[in-house]
Amino acid sequence: MLLRTVFASRLAVPLVDPFVIATARVDVTPSVLVRVELEHDGVIVEGLGEGACLPPVTRETPEHVFASIASACPELLGKSFDAPNIEAFRSLLGDALMDAPVARAALQVALLDAWSRANHMHIARMLQPNMALPVEVVSDMTLPILPLERMVELALQWRAKGFRTFKVKVGKDLDADLRVLIEVGSKVQDARFRLDANEGYSPREALHLANACLRKGLVLECFEQPCARADEGALEEVQAGLAHVPVIADESCRTEADLDRLLASKHRVGGINLKLVKHGGLLEAHALGVRATREGLRVMVGGMVETRLGMSTAAALAACFPGVLADLDTAWLLAHDPFTGGYEADGERYTVGHGMGHGVQVRAAS
Ligand SMILES: [Mg+2]
Repeated sequence: MLLRTVFASRLAVPLVDPFVIATARVDVTPSVLVRVELEHDGVIVEGLGEGACLPPVTRETPEHVFASIASACPELLGKSFDAPNIEAFRSLLGDALMDAPVARAALQVALLDAWSRANHMHIARMLQPNMALPVEVVSDMTLPILPLERMVELALQWRAKGFRTFKVKVGKDLDADLRVLIEVGSKVQDARFRLDANEGYSPREALHLANACLRKGLVLECFEQPCARADEGALEEVQAGLAHVPVIADESCRTEADLDRLLASKHRVGGINLKLVKHGGLLEAHALGVRATREGLRVMVGGMVETRLGMSTAAALAACFPGVLADLDTAWLLAHDPFTGGYEADGERYTVGHGMGHGVQVRAAS
């Protein structure tokens, strides 16, 4: 299968509420849509990938992604992309887009999508050939940092739509964070919580918040990236103080070397968060998840602020890990949906595995 064309365009979709976390604010998705065409027995098959930027969480901006793809194209166009020669495929993209994980992930997903469509299979089956499809995955819903009243209103609104697990963004103001958690917990009786501080706390602050939540009887499923990735040993310190709540490394786990370091620690964290653009591709994220699972860590699968395209691909990844902590909600935070297909969602329950490739298409203009 020969790569004939690569086309990158802006994927800018407005959000209903600003997405505010401890380190960033997004009003419109700062993303790139990558389309490729593979030629297969004289027939052209199209594939789509999302390059979800979220500066400063990602170093790349859309402009970087455009420039990286433009500079890699002369090396890639006309080349053959064929599974099962996945290692050769990974290394070809890796060489061409070494320091551009967002661009690499978008291009890789577009190629894998086209390849699996040409071979009449779902993209999840390409990752795990013996997997039984479809698979059901249960996702949380994220509450970004907003005024308390709006966060409570959103929690009630999402509970009415079937979501029971809330990933609450914290890390900017300890007292305000605790007030929100207690208030949401009192208004949504069966709520379960995942905290994500995006590096915003010291270990002492993180433990203070988590223990205060537990004393109030809140159900904490995990605490994601409580402290700065530069603060070596901080996540492990939080984990050592939280016996029954897994600490999940997100910003601290980008590469194989990061996972090596986390696994070598005396107080291992409880899990890692996989994201396609953070690891530079679906294949890379899957390989990290397989290794983490083998080592007894939990796997969370999330994304940046992504549309149905990125989230459906992430859902295929999540489907590979039984017991996954799925965080696949961001398409619902957008003011409109430029795509159709992909996962089928009924509230928090997503069905993954229908269709070919990741199953997502650009919505026809109405
Ligand atoms: Mg996170």
